[in-house]
Amino acid sequence: MVKRYIYADNAATTKLDDEAYEAMLPWLRENYGNASQPYSFSREPKKALAEARASIAACINADPEEIFFTSGGTESDNWAIKGSAFSDPDHRATITSSFEHHAVLRSCEAIEKLGYPVAYLQPTADGTILPEALEGCITANTRLVSIMFANNEIGSIQPVKQLCSIAHSHGALFHTDAVQALGHIKIDVKDLGVDMLSASAHKFNGPKGIGFLYVRKGTRIASYADGGSQERGFRAGTENVASIVGMAVALKRNCEALECNFEHIRSLEARLIKKLFSAGISFVRNGGKNTLPGLISLSFPGKDGEAILHRLDLKGICVSTGAACNSEDTEISHVLKAIRADESAALGTIRISLGKWNTVEDVDEISAVLNKVL
Ligand code: PLP
Repeated sequence: MVKRYIYADNAATTKLDDEAYEAMLPWLRENYGNASQPYSFSREPKKALAEARASIAACINADPEEIFFTSGGTESDNWAIKGSAFSDPDHRATITSSFEHHAVLRSCEAIEKLGYPVAYLQPTADGTILPEALEGCITANTRLVSIMFANNEIGSIQPVKQLCSIAHSHGALFHTDAVQALGHIKIDVKDLGVDMLSASAHKFNGPKGIGFLYVRKGTRIASYADGGSQERGFRAGTENVASIVGMAVALKRNCEALECNFEHIRSLEARLIKKLFSAGISFVRNGGKNTLPGLISLSFPGKDGEAILHRLDLKGICVSTGAACNSEDTEISHVLKAIRADESAALGTIRISLGKWNTVEDVDEISAVLNKVL
C-alpha cells in the first residue's frame, strides 16, 4: 500500500499538474525532434517552443522575445548576476540583500572573487528590504540591484516596484528572483518595471529542471552558456521542449486560477494559525504581515525544529526547518540570522508551505499533530 503523505512543503517543490504532464508526453515520444533543425520533422517542436514562449510571456505581461529558457531558478539567478556584472566594465557594483536564496548569494560571492564589489542590504526584523536602505547604498557605480520578490523561508513580499524605481533613477538595472512568487501572486513585469526576473517551473506545479529568465528588451547582459545559437545565442543548449511545454501549461493554469487558489490557500493558512492559537501553543510567525499565500514560518521558542520535523514525518507530514544540522553543530539559516531571530526561536523554527491541493483535513491533521508533539 502506498503511504499517504500530507505534503506541506510546497516552497521546496510542488506536484506536477496533470494537464502539464499530459502536454509533455508527445514531445518525449512521437515528436522528439531537435527544435533547431531545419527539416519538417522539427517544425512541430519549433512551433511548440514558440507557443510556450508566447504563453509564458502573456502570463507576466512580457513580450515573447523577452523570455529565455534556462534549467531553473538557480541558473536564471546566476545568469542575471554574472551576466550583468560582465556586461559593463564602467559600472561594476552589485547590490543585493543578505537573505536572498543561495543561488543569488553564491553568484555574488563568485563575482566578488573576480573583483566586482557587492553590497548586502539587511532586511528589517519582519523580513523587508526598505527602499531607504537601498537609497543609502546605491552609487553611480552600481550596475545591478537584485532583490528577491518574496523570501523562500519566511514568505515576506518585497516592495519590488519601489526598489526597482530607485535602481533606475540611479541608472542601475533591477533583477528580482521571483521563484517563490510566480504562479502564486500576480506578477506584471511592465507594471513593476523590472529588467530581469527569475522563475522556476517546479515551484508552480511544472516539471523540475526548467525555468526562465525574463530579460527586458534592450537590457545589456552577457550570454550565460556559450555554444549553439539557441535562445538567440544567449543560452546555448538543445531546447528541452517537453519541459518547456509543461512549464507553460502549468503557469497558465496557475495564473488562470490565481484568485481562487489564493483565497483557498489563505483560508487554510488562517485556519491553521487559529487552531494553533486556540490550542494554546506558544509561537511566533516570521515574515511580517505581507507574506506569500500559504508560506508559514513558525518559531516555537525553546523547541527543536529538527525534532518537530521528524515527529511530523513519522505521521507522514512533510515540512521544512529553519536550521540544518551538520555533524558538529546546528546551523541557523542565513535568513533567520538576517532578520535577527532570537537563537532559541530560530532553532525551533519550521516552515509549513501549503499549496493549491492542500485541504482543510490536511491543515486540521497538521495542527493536531503539532499540538501533540510540542
Ligand atoms: N530562488 C529561490 C527564491 C528559491 O526558493 C529557489 C529554490 O528553492 C531557487 C532560487 C532555486 O531554484 P531551482 O530549484 O529551480 O534551481
